[in-house]
Amino acid sequence: MDHFTLKDGVTHAEDVPLTLIAEAVGTPAYVYSTATIERHVRVFREALDKVESAGQPTLVAFAVKANPNAAVLATLAQLGLGADVVSEGELLRALHAGVPADRIVFSGVGKTADEMARALKAGILQFNVESEPEVETLSAVAQSLGVTARIAFRVNPDVDAMTHAKISTGKAENKFGIPIDRARASYFTASRLPGIEPVGVAVHIGSQLTDLGPLADAFAKVGQLIVQLRTDGHVIRTADLGGGLGVPYDPTVPHPPTPAEYGAMVAEATAGWNVRLIFEPGRLIVANAGILLTRVVRVKTGAAERFVIVDAAMNDLLRPSLYDAWHDIRAVVPRGSKMTANVVGPVCELGDTFATQRELDVLEEGDLAMFMTAGAYGATMASTYNSRALTAEVLVNGADYAVVRQRQPIEALIALDSVPDWLRL
Ligand SMILES: *Cc1c(COP(=O)(O)O)cnc(C)c1O
Repeated sequence: MDHFTLKDGVTHAEDVPLTLIAEAVGTPAYVYSTATIERHVRVFREALDKVESAGQPTLVAFAVKANPNAAVLATLAQLGLGADVVSEGELLRALHAGVPADRIVFSGVGKTADEMARALKAGILQFNVESEPEVETLSAVAQSLGVTARIAFRVNPDVDAMTHAKISTGKAENKFGIPIDRARASYFTASRLPGIEPVGVAVHIGSQLTDLGPLADAFAKVGQLIVQLRTDGHVIRTADLGGGLGVPYDPTVPHPPTPAEYGAMVAEATAGWNVRLIFEPGRLIVANAGILLTRVVRVKTGAAERFVIVDAAMNDLLRPSLYDAWHDIRAVVPRGSKMTANVVGPVCELGDTFATQRELDVLEEGDLAMFMTAGAYGATMASTYNSRALTAEVLVNGADYAVVRQRQPIEALIALDSVPDWLRL
């Protein structure tokens, strides 16, 4: 459920007409709804009501990569969420937004020694380590700083998450994690390293998951591993179950499992684990809380097809081009009739296609349109390809709205380049 609804014929974000935002901020622009973000946090927490977490509150650590905007992170920090970060940049953003260090988990397959040092100095909760060489580096860095790093190994359970190949992360051949059948040896190695304290196990098998089966399989394997590790003498206090629950993009296909169904599966899978549970949802929290607002540049008719050319492009919203992703496309002020068209951006790539032979609201030159469910992996994946400036982002809260990222001036983008002396005339 979201808060982008028609009122008197005009789509509003909460109480603000999108026509007003388009006029004030220009297009393309991402627009986020505070009420939707809050609702998703509440729904996810309620879904986890029944899980045991060793008597401690579960930690919901928002996957910052889904939407790292400072205002979005501040909204989530004020709701008490933690952060799952995968780079120094995300770590700094989370801290800056007010996420306490003891609610920050550092994931990622290629953490550098500098990034580790930064996180250790900040005092983060735990590192989710993805290899033995990584834990050796972390040991050296922690020792040099005179501190101890709490770690969980991210295990690769070798399950097929049944999602798009580019966002599937839990199969043996993927780059993520350590093989689960070698995990005991890795924990043994890590436990003997100075400056390292193994405290937990982590798993994350992929994103936009629409079937709970692979998650349940992965969690069952993690449960067995926790028992084995305790038998081996390790003190396992946390289990990080990752993120990955899918959201409905296309209203005409069956919806993914609900958070409540996910929560019930987790409660069953983790009963008796006696650990503090950590979750890393990204998409589920923010996807439906954002749209990409765009304006129709023109409509042209090709040999057979009708093309609606909008001012947003693949550099602003990469998902359709990268993952063949489907986004619902609607008119901001619907005219009441439908047409069939291809919706494309202006970038010089065939991949800059948002929809093919789509039945959608009639759109004419100058009309405003919106890509729904664009709050996750939207603005954060933007590039400046075709020398298109990074787009603006807007956060709505009731009848208020604020620009939470300025549109990048094209001059500022160009000014980052410089021409060496030998080319100066
Ligand atoms: C991307 C990612 C997430 C979030 O995935 P969603 O599908 O957005 O919930 C969580 N944990 C890790 C380690 C990730 O890489």
